[in-house]
Amino acid sequence: MTTYSYSKISTFLQCRYKYKLQYIDRIKVEVKTTIEAFMGSIVHQTLEKLYKDMKFGKNNNKKELLSFYSALWDEKYSDDIRIVKKEYSAQNYKDMGAKFVSDYYEHYAPFDQIKVLGLETQEMLNLNNGNKYHIRIDRLCSDNRGTYYVCDYKTNSRLKSQEEADSDRQLAMYALWVKERFKDAKEVKLIWYMLAFDREVSSERTDEQLKNLKKEIEEQIEKIERCEDFPVNESALCNWCNYKELCPLFRHEEELKSKKGLEKYMAEDGLKLIDELDELIFQKKQIEGKIDTIKDRLIEFAKQRKVNMIFGTDKKASVREYEKVIYPQDKEKLVNVIKEKGLYDDLSNINYIKLSSKILKSQIDEDIIKMTRIEKDYRFFLSKKK
Ligand code: SF4
Repeated sequence: MTTYSYSKISTFLQCRYKYKLQYIDRIKVEVKTTIEAFMGSIVHQTLEKLYKDMKFGKNNNKKELLSFYSALWDEKYSDDIRIVKKEYSAQNYKDMGAKFVSDYYEHYAPFDQIKVLGLETQEMLNLNNGNKYHIRIDRLCSDNRGTYYVCDYKTNSRLKSQEEADSDRQLAMYALWVKERFKDAKEVKLIWYMLAFDREVSSERTDEQLKNLKKEIEEQIEKIERCEDFPVNESALCNWCNYKELCPLFRHEEELKSKKGLEKYMAEDGLKLIDELDELIFQKKQIEGKIDTIKDRLIEFAKQRKVNMIFGTDKKASVREYEKVIYPQDKEKLVNVIKEKGLYDDLSNINYIKLSSKILKSQIDEDIIKMTRIEKDYRFFLSKKK
């Protein structure tokens, strides 16, 4: 029996290499919390306190709640929390979170619209093959008409669209659990509190959709359990990954960061080689630009002097006008006409990139695969560091 969660499955879909390190090899790394995650956590804990206190008959006013938020922030904050967006300070984030709490308070006080059944739930939904799915709902509520509310606080700076809400799998899985657990549930509303916008986005699922979703998740889990290949997948999310020091894409950069002293840093072979290559590619581009300029000037020279051959000290260059074919923008139409005229076989080439991809994925006839062999090689791309 294995427990899966929304974030575990998302990690697999985001980067299988990270998934392997985190969930299969269970490698413990120093978790460097980002300021966004930290702020989100403090806001969540503040709103949890608001409702928890109410259960005990203690109603916080806005000032008390904001003091709690501020004190919790100060107590938990540490300088190793990562701020990826360097243009903003920790104080900017703290103020932003305080505004979220304040706006929420103004909007929903006295918080008695719907009855709270659970806060930060720790439940399990049974899946096939004995697996379980972790149900962690920020706030679960119901009203007396049999409507249940799966409430999720979002501190993102991007408003969730209706399409995203309607296709979201995290809260939909929670709805499935609510329907199984509470037999009186007539409907389950999924509500995202988009705190940065003081707005709600809501969505619902039919029983049929929930059944299909469960099947989809179970199939996804089967795929995870069958998986034997865990490649890296570089994306914008790498900026927030805690496994960079173990990742072949970023290990070298992390090693450089950890080296002490400029001297040691400058003695690094990899760094020197990349800098040298960068400089040579730069020079190559400049030289290519100069060659093009000289060619243009030679063409001008040949036209003016009405000559086809120009002489240097050791070399000569022929400059000849030729007729160049300009093809229509609509290449497909051209290819269709070539095919109609029966000229395609004579004029077409094999697309070796496409063919290689099909061979590597075994998506082509076995006889063709047998005629080839596969060996390891290296590709090399030089790009700007992010
Ligand atoms: S840094 Fe990016 S590619 Fe490397 S393990 Fe993390 S998510 Fe995957």
